[in-house]
Amino acid sequence: MNGHDYDLLIIGAGVSGGALMYLAAQYTDIESIGIIEKYAAPARVNSLSSNNSQTLHCGDIETNYTLEKALKVQRAAAMLRNYATAQPDAHHIIFKYPKMVIGVGEQECAQLRERFEVFGPHYPHLRLLNKEDIAEIEPSVVRKGEGYRDEEVVALGSTDEYTAVNFEALARSFVRQAQMVEGKQTDAHYNQQVQHIQVDDDHFRIETEEHVYTAKSLVVCAGGHSLKLAHDLGYGWHYSCLPVAGSYYFTPQVLNGKVYTVQNDALPFAAIHGDPDVLVPGATRFGPTALILPILERYNLSTLPDFLQVFRFDRRVAKVLWDLLKVRDIRNYMFKNFLFEIPFIRRMLFLKDVRKIVPSLRLGDLKFAKKVGGIRPQLIDKDNESLLLGEAKIDTGKGAIFNMTPSPGGTSCLENAELDLRTVCEYLEASIDEAAFKRDLLQDDEQHDDADFTGRVLSGDNAR
Ligand SMILES: Cc1cc2nc3c(=O)[nH]c(=O)nc-3n(C[C@H](O)[C@H](O)[C@H](O)COP(=O)(O)OP(=O)(O)OC[C@H]3O[C@@H](n4cnc5c(N)ncnc54)[C@H](O)[C@@H]3O)c2cc1C
Repeated sequence: MNGHDYDLLIIGAGVSGGALMYLAAQYTDIESIGIIEKYAAPARVNSLSSNNSQTLHCGDIETNYTLEKALKVQRAAAMLRNYATAQPDAHHIIFKYPKMVIGVGEQECAQLRERFEVFGPHYPHLRLLNKEDIAEIEPSVVRKGEGYRDEEVVALGSTDEYTAVNFEALARSFVRQAQMVEGKQTDAHYNQQVQHIQVDDDHFRIETEEHVYTAKSLVVCAGGHSLKLAHDLGYGWHYSCLPVAGSYYFTPQVLNGKVYTVQNDALPFAAIHGDPDVLVPGATRFGPTALILPILERYNLSTLPDFLQVFRFDRRVAKVLWDLLKVRDIRNYMFKNFLFEIPFIRRMLFLKDVRKIVPSLRLGDLKFAKKVGGIRPQLIDKDNESLLLGEAKIDTGKGAIFNMTPSPGGTSCLENAELDLRTVCEYLEASIDEAAFKRDLLQDDEQHDDADFTGRVLSGDNAR
């Protein structure tokens, strides 16, 4: 076989592409698998550790998730946890920190109590916490001087679960493990930017500046660029991409774990939260904000023309944007998030929001996190004139799939890869070792819980 011809070719070596490469190599009889990445290493864009919130979303404390969505995410998170905790370098990939969502004021507290009734039975570790309980886990959330803050506060949370993931380390691990599977051709091609895809008889022809690759099946996991490549092949014209950037602020360490806030249902993006950064010991990271930017990769202006190609502004896109702007809460939220980016005033404005989580924070504690935060490639469905909030997939039904993965795409990487794997195997008439897949990835949650990776401080190459 020629070195550039594959049964399955994946474009993009972030956590999504890496997960698919690993599953295909480890659990199927697909013989040759290639992955093409435009940068020199896996996970340089949204999966980069500094570009996302590093949260393993399980659905219990995300108040914008319905029970149905929460249980779907719970399964995806369990797959990731089962993979990560079985790795020799698990302590670089997955982490235990306490987590909670806080309700502040009568209405939010009532909402959380109600949620606990519904979600509690599905989440055995989840506890309803009062001020005293919270003070034991996250004192700065409720303490004020010698006593407690005045407002009513309750929380839903747990203290002994895997809650954080270095998605960059996870992507590297997937590619490495895939390449270690014996008897398979598993190639990673770095510094190769895919420019053009076309169908040639029963093969796909994938061109970079230097090479031409051919493949029987193709899965594109290139973030916002997936839509550009789908358009190139003549698919996905009914989608437009709206890139929503997220910025963060650092403070000295004021939290021990992850503290989320109750979501305003009118707003399309998650409310800000405070988290440890798994690679920045001694600090707390607050965010993300949500700012619409005309680029597909954060801090990379050369992706502006790519944005213009996928935005495809027309009457239907205008209608979706107008419908968003018509809602007062969303309009104010967009304006506020714009102000969050303006030096001098941004810290003052952000301080107000962060004080909902830690009331004693002062202006001097906040530092804008430079070059931190990626871009969520949210899709606009032009046919239905709506903004899609979760992951989106274009399956051509002819051996090519295109994935666009905003949050919680990191958490869902294995589950999403499983979906693609099943489609690809059907197309290639390949088979999956279902027993091994189930044993390794869908096993009971508790198996690895005796290993303790609680809030570790990393050193050497993995610290920065
Ligand atoms: C601010 C923010 C916070 C988030 N927080 C969380 C969180 O806490 N938990 C969670 O689960 N998810 C979170 N997410 C979502 C998560 O980060 C992404 O869903 C996930 O990283 C997407 O992985 P991916 O592999 O699909 O995309 P990416 O990691 O962006 O990888 C795409 C890859 O494709 C490559 N590529 C692009 N174009 C080409 C081309 N033409 N040729 C070759 N290669 C190409 C890129 O270089 C890149 O490596 C967050 C996202 C953002 C932006």
